[in-house]
Amino acid sequence: MIENLLNEKYPFQLKKLDYPYNSLEPYIDEETMCIHHNKHLATYINNLNSILSKNPEFQNFTLGELIKNNILLPASIQEGVKNNAGGVFNHNFYFKIMTPNKEKSNIAIFEHIILKNFNSTEEFLNTLFQVALNRFASGWAWLTIDTNKNLHIISTANQDTPYSANLYPIMLIDVWEHAYYLKYQNRRNDYINNFFNIINWSQVKKNYENYIFSC
Ligand code: MN
Repeated sequence: MIENLLNEKYPFQLKKLDYPYNSLEPYIDEETMCIHHNKHLATYINNLNSILSKNPEFQNFTLGELIKNNILLPASIQEGVKNNAGGVFNHNFYFKIMTPNKEKSNIAIFEHIILKNFNSTEEFLNTLFQVALNRFASGWAWLTIDTNKNLHIISTANQDTPYSANLYPIMLIDVWEHAYYLKYQNRRNDYINNFFNIINWSQVKKNYENYIFSC
């Protein structure tokens, strides 16, 4: 799934979600989902396409190359590509990591992997909660793997990704206010706790195994 997202190329397109906008209720409301996907993600896609339309020599770059090799781009478009390519990847990943399916969102699916890295599932969730809660201003909380196959929970600012820290992402939480403000206002803590009900642990486990078994 992640490699497919990274391999996309210009012109980038808004893809339909795998589930209806209202299917994550009561945890995330329909209006938030609709605006987040159809307006916020669409804007990142349009902005990235617009930059590349004026710089055709980079239209062959995959989304992953635009993110990971940002330094190779002309200085004048580095910031715009970083923010918008990151915005496209992070959001496509985010919408794939949520599910209304109760079986897939059962954390028991991923528990044996958590327990290789943390003392308990409670400790793991609490760390994830704190990192997401304490991300100052806008950004993301991530579950990542390092090259020694250990899990790490980190956060990034804005639309940055863990690749710059040489970490491979397998799960993420959007903690920009636009992800929760309509329903939760300033209560990021309630949003994060409710988000724990809709994480697609079946997909997270696949992401983990794809990385572990590809080395
Ligand atoms: Mn967002």
